[in-house]
Amino acid sequence: MIKFLDLKFQYSTIKEEVDAAMKNVIDNSAFIGGEEIKNLERDFAIFQNAEYCIAVANGTDALEIAIEALDLPLGSEIIVPANSFISSGEAVTRSGHQVVFCDCDPENYTIDLESLRKAITDKTKAVIAVHLYGHPCNMDELMALAIEKDLKIIEDCAQAHGAEVHGKRIGAIGHIGAFSFYPGKNLGAYGDAGAILTNDAALAKKSRMIANHGRIEKYNHIFEGRNSRLDNLQAAVLNVKLKHIENWTEQRIAVADYYLKELKEVPQIRLPKRESWARQVYHLFVIRVADRDHLKNYLKENDIESGIHYPIALPKLQAYKYLGQDEDEFYANKYDSQVLSLPIGEHITLNDAGRVVSVLKEYFGAK
Ligand SMILES: *Cc1c(COP(=O)(O)O)cnc(C)c1O
Repeated sequence: MIKFLDLKFQYSTIKEEVDAAMKNVIDNSAFIGGEEIKNLERDFAIFQNAEYCIAVANGTDALEIAIEALDLPLGSEIIVPANSFISSGEAVTRSGHQVVFCDCDPENYTIDLESLRKAITDKTKAVIAVHLYGHPCNMDELMALAIEKDLKIIEDCAQAHGAEVHGKRIGAIGHIGAFSFYPGKNLGAYGDAGAILTNDAALAKKSRMIANHGRIEKYNHIFEGRNSRLDNLQAAVLNVKLKHIENWTEQRIAVADYYLKELKEVPQIRLPKRESWARQVYHLFVIRVADRDHLKNYLKENDIESGIHYPIALPKLQAYKYLGQDEDEFYANKYDSQVLSLPIGEHITLNDAGRVVSVLKEYFGAK
């Protein structure tokens, strides 16, 4: 069986390090705040080339706190790409603002700049730049647009640990960035976890305060915040995994390169485009086919798991019916029936990828 995700396998390769790190936290019984969190914040900021890192409870909180920290007028319009996980929109609404969708690029699947431009109104104050599937958004153009239209750029980096634009790591290229360390992400904890990155000292301070009851020291609260601290057990796991993420990412890229090369000649498959300026870290390797569900089944019959990201584009969800948007408005609303995520990750060898390719070629009758 070729699994889509295999966290047990990953654990088996780092068991001793992880067990020791977790035991250390429990032995010391320091569960909130402390060495592990400090080390994670320092090392993850270095890894992503950012000034400040604030560890928080999960990726959705990271987005929400990042938006709150920007202190935009309540009810501001924030533009969200149609193809993403719901958190990208949820965080906008939860922080008191208005979701406005725009389309995604049909080749690299990140935010479509032309559609984004059209969605901007006088009330638009920010954009959620989702580095979807591990492919970075075109940050050059986004930052130019941000200056032109006086917008804040919030990077949703949940799928893009280590991704780069012209050799520069994402996360703090925009005004503020949010990461998820959900177990299945490229860098995952053993439960929920997340982080905020920024190069702006004031935004970093504000974010840290929001995530910790609006306080500057114990029992001295400047405003009402919330509890979104990350715990030391999760930080300990992440500190171990941070040492391996570079190797794991290279393995993802090698498998992706193999898929791209081997599947190029199958005309029924639309392969994901990697822009020349991008380091795509392949959280997901998403192809598009006309008969997606049929193919997914065929792969399953051949012991190959696959995924769908995402089966329903955000504007079509029940949760966003209230926006009254036209179903046909976005291209992304149409290709949700075609997307299929092939197995990729540190558990997938080139040999496994070879099997996936041969089953796909067999299915489409190509040589
Ligand atoms: C996973 C994910 C999130 C949310 O992260 P959680 O840690 O699960 O809250 C946000 N945005 C995107 C694009 C994601 O894939």
